[in-house]
Amino acid sequence: MSSEQDLGITESKQHNTGEWYAEVVKKAGLVNYGPDGMSGFIVTRPRGYALWEAIQSELDSKFKATGVQNAYFPMFIPESYLEREKDIVEGFDPEVAWVTHGGHDELEERLAVRPTSESIIAPYLAQWVRSHRDLPLRVNQWGSVVRWEATETKPFFRTKEFLWQEGHTAHETHDKAWDETMTRLDQYADLYEDLLAIPVLKGQKPDHDKFPGAHKTTTVEALMPDGKSVQAGTSHHLGTSFAEAFDITFSNKDEETQPAHTTSWGLSWRALGALIMTHSDDQGLVLPPTIAPEQVVIVPIWQEDTKGDVLDYADEVANDLADSGVRVELDDRDERNPGFKFNEWELKGVPIRIEIGPHEVEDGEVTIIHRPDGESITADRDNIDATIQDHFDGVYAKLYAAAEENLDDSVREADSREEILGTLGRHGGYVKAPWCGDEECEEPIKEPLAAEIVMCPFDDEETVGDDETCAICGDDATQTAYFAKNY
Ligand SMILES: [Zn+2]
Repeated sequence: MSSEQDLGITESKQHNTGEWYAEVVKKAGLVNYGPDGMSGFIVTRPRGYALWEAIQSELDSKFKATGVQNAYFPMFIPESYLEREKDIVEGFDPEVAWVTHGGHDELEERLAVRPTSESIIAPYLAQWVRSHRDLPLRVNQWGSVVRWEATETKPFFRTKEFLWQEGHTAHETHDKAWDETMTRLDQYADLYEDLLAIPVLKGQKPDHDKFPGAHKTTTVEALMPDGKSVQAGTSHHLGTSFAEAFDITFSNKDEETQPAHTTSWGLSWRALGALIMTHSDDQGLVLPPTIAPEQVVIVPIWQEDTKGDVLDYADEVANDLADSGVRVELDDRDERNPGFKFNEWELKGVPIRIEIGPHEVEDGEVTIIHRPDGESITADRDNIDATIQDHFDGVYAKLYAAAEENLDDSVREADSREEILGTLGRHGGYVKAPWCGDEECEEPIKEPLAAEIVMCPFDDEETVGDDETCAICGDDATQTAYFAKNY
């Protein structure tokens, strides 16, 4: 049984974001850390996994509505497969975990635990694609990958094994692969904006930071309240490099053999990290009603002489809400007082609390409290189902507006190295600057601040004027770069 003290968040989001985050995910019952000797791994508890399932469900239906089928490939990849695409090996080698033994026997060829699955999926795409009639081919896999990064664990943001989906497609032409790349990027942006109440920026990674072997890597970036950017989902136009390495070819209408144009795109449970980090506060988890496992908790408040009436009334309200499809919990525990219950449900992030006492029963009303800001509203008990839907919209709008304000206030411009460093150092957020496209011009920012170019907007031709020069080197600018510290 937890005490009042165990329930409380003791760290401050504003002053100690990292410790605060670790405390929220643990005390809200989302995760445990992995066993001793397995640092970097986490256990996702049912409340945490329910959030991931909500994301899965939303994305999966978007994918299926746009021609994607799910499949599953082995979690191990033979070393020779990884080597077929040299760029991938170079990109992932230090992070790959290897299986060398099966039982007592040493394997003839060691197996990589997948850091991503291009090199095991591509050879099968090659078998499945024969003619232009087989295209487009779109498969998606829900699973986990392992990247053995030796950095500090941060549940959902940085773990050695993480859950994600990876989509892999093949197309007849470069343009069709580009349309696919952007379709998936737009779906990721919609997921953030419509399910998670987080506005995002869409753009492309600079060439030196794109997926190994890719023609272009596109990204959605979300700004966290501590001023750091989260790479929230990526979609890669792989050009024909994978098709050439793995022989994904098709015969076109004129019976000529051509390489396919492929894409891959992935979104991980980092989306949960962004969700928790963005909305939660010093009382604990805050969730939008769209994703909350319990959308409404009803807390009855009674004395001995009013207990029967209050509980009957609360029970009816709970039933009405459940019948209309609301995920509702009636907290009628005897052994806990209302104050304790308020704290506990606040910690767990339930977006709306309904309080029902003798006054509400007498007046045919309910008292509705919004989790994000504590706003309290008295409403008629009649039509409670429609009323609650309005309040869901209201809570969602509050959360989105706060995140949007943070983003809008955090995009600043600069046109010299000193100004970029000064602005990022003081405020965090994004600093926009004209850039020549050369990786060397990122170094003077990366070195002192650990900030980098997280993305370049797509509409550079419109935004970069002929006379603009790179903020770092003074050569002609070709792109607008968004510099930021990131997760
Ligand atoms: Zn430059």
